[in-house]
Amino acid sequence: NAVVYWMRMEDMRIHDNRALSKASELAKKENIPLVALFVISPHDYIAHDRGPRRIDFMLRNLRCIQTDLANLHIPLHVTTHTPRHTLPEYILSLMKDVGATQIFANIEYEVDELRRDIKLCELAKNEKFSAIFVHDKLIIQPDTLFTKANKPYTVYSPWQRNWLAMLNSDLAKYIGEAPGPSANDKSIHSNSKLSSLFDCKIPEKIDGFECQDGEVMAKIWPAGEDAAREMLRLFLFTKAQSSHIGVSDPLANAPEEQKGSKASRVLQYKDNRDKVDSNTTSRLSPYLASGVISARECVRGTLKVLGADKVQGTRDTAVGHWVQEVAWRDFYTHVMASFPRVSMGRTFLEKFDAVIWETNEEHFEAWKQGRTGVPIVDAAMRQLNTMGWMHNRPRMVAAMFLVKDLMIDWRLGERYFMEQLIDGDLASNNGGWQWSSSTGTDPQPYFRIMNPFNQSEKADPDGDYIRSFVPELRSVKSKDIHRPSTALAMKLNYPAPIIDHHKARDRAMRRFKNPGEN
Ligand code: FAD
Repeated sequence: NAVVYWMRMEDMRIHDNRALSKASELAKKENIPLVALFVISPHDYIAHDRGPRRIDFMLRNLRCIQTDLANLHIPLHVTTHTPRHTLPEYILSLMKDVGATQIFANIEYEVDELRRDIKLCELAKNEKFSAIFVHDKLIIQPDTLFTKANKPYTVYSPWQRNWLAMLNSDLAKYIGEAPGPSANDKSIHSNSKLSSLFDCKIPEKIDGFECQDGEVMAKIWPAGEDAAREMLRLFLFTKAQSSHIGVSDPLANAPEEQKGSKASRVLQYKDNRDKVDSNTTSRLSPYLASGVISARECVRGTLKVLGADKVQGTRDTAVGHWVQEVAWRDFYTHVMASFPRVSMGRTFLEKFDAVIWETNEEHFEAWKQGRTGVPIVDAAMRQLNTMGWMHNRPRMVAAMFLVKDLMIDWRLGERYFMEQLIDGDLASNNGGWQWSSSTGTDPQPYFRIMNPFNQSEKADPDGDYIRSFVPELRSVKSKDIHRPSTALAMKLNYPAPIIDHHKARDRAMRRFKNPGEN
């Protein structure tokens, strides 16, 4: 007999991993081998628009995990399987191969993944095997928070109040650490089939997902739990650095902890989070999206900084504010779980399904390449294209520009982001796009249309963010950089704006006011 832990691409860590922890406990109790399994499923990556960077990050993390697990004498067996609809049968056959009758995994909340796991449960039942799926990804699991009318929430603020109350009512339950797996020694080595799994090689790349800028990605986003922890430490204990706007190694010459300093990034977060001219935010999203660090560990870390025994409720406190951003991740996953239509390319507010979109390849291409002539949008898109990541404010500005200024269908932008992002997460990306398109859960009406030039002046007053990503504008003075004149732009070989913001705004208002009309 043996126990299998099935690791998926959203829980790529050993510490504080509930399914792994439970599998290990059982293996220890029954004195049986524990095998970790990871199935590369290219069809799933295509279906979810996963980009090469996200897949490369997955492979890099797998290598770290394989070494760490091997030190505990737990083999990580990595295999590839297509087509995706026969994955449950394949998992079952692997279980039989290693002589396991029990499997543990953390739940993935996307609709295809839930269907797949339900099928595995059914197959396992027929064989009298046990398949146990546990909640791990979020602080508070979906299907636990309801309105007074017992309906799922559709608005963030009341949901967040309830979320916070529930979290503070039992911190140990929601952010307590799952015990790490224990070494699983004797049993494996007495079984030649299982010990042969230690030879398993993780592929260098996956066909169709070759990462052209793998070296750059490895420099900005080093893999592994130690790197994720170091990112968290830097956020909690050190100051923001303007030298870290662009492509730089975040862990090289990492500053020393500044204990007691009021200037650490987390303590300045409330005031600085919307500034894009230094690394004001945590940059933990790639690690959270791939589960290289748990959200629980991040919240525990903030409580430690404060020496607090509960999470503060108001947005006026720096740390409370950051935890509320982490809560957005829970919120959008709750929305996706309660309203699966959002993960099927449909709007949350269904009346906006009828909005008429422009088909303009040239405009879409200019947006993707960062050649729209609107500096903050171009800097944002070039940051995405070079770093696989963007700060939240430029994400909103660039997304809203595509949807409201260029009037291009948000689903095209959602897919492009997903293909480029190293932190691509279906629920958060969809939530962000539907927010920016006013088709989502946000109570603000469609006529909230950001003026990208004003946003630029606020978020990047001196223009340093623009200069980092748009080299054509490097010599431009701060006062001119947000909207360079046509003459200056021509001289610098930088495009004039491809659209007039004020006219575009009127068009968007018209089309959103009467969906289906031009
Ligand atoms: P911090 O400000 O330090 O926040 C800490 C963590 O909280 C983040 O790492 C993230 O896990 C979570 N978080 C913060 N803000 C949000 C938010 N608005 N929605 C959901 N989670 C949030 N985030 C992703 O993780 N993956 C995506 O694919 C993604 N796509 C987005 C698309 C659009 C159009 C928009 C507007 C936002 C998107 N976001 C996405 C949310 C947000 O922009 C990023 O999480 C954030 O910029 C990551 O930087 P950080 O780790 O420094 O965040």
